[in-house]
Amino acid sequence: MAEDEMQCWECNGRYSYKMADFSVYGISLGKFRAKVCNKCGDKVFSEEVSDQMDKIAKQRGLWGLEAKTKIGKVGNALDVKINTKIAKFCDLKKGREVSVRPEGKNRILIEVVAA
Ligand SMILES: [Zn+2]
Repeated sequence: MAEDEMQCWECNGRYSYKMADFSVYGISLGKFRAKVCNKCGDKVFSEEVSDQMDKIAKQRGLWGLEAKTKIGKVGNALDVKINTKIAKFCDLKKGREVSVRPEGKNRILIEVVAA
């Protein structure tokens, strides 16, 4: 590894090799070898490790769950359709109670309320 590749572009910190957690949709895939910045914590995974993580994500059904949808309208309220892939992943069924709240102006969090 060349000397300049061990310096963080973001903060001028120094990278060193560590085992770093990697998560997809909030679910940990495990720990993987990464260059981690000692100042800002930026993680850089090699292409080989990224391919390995993609493979694990696919095997565990953590792939392609993100979807675009349009806001609908029911009476005076707006609704959001959740596709079957996401519904299955989150174990959602009609009538299941969820909590909906904004996190800033561009993000809405839908959280399943424990039964
Ligand atoms: Zn950094």
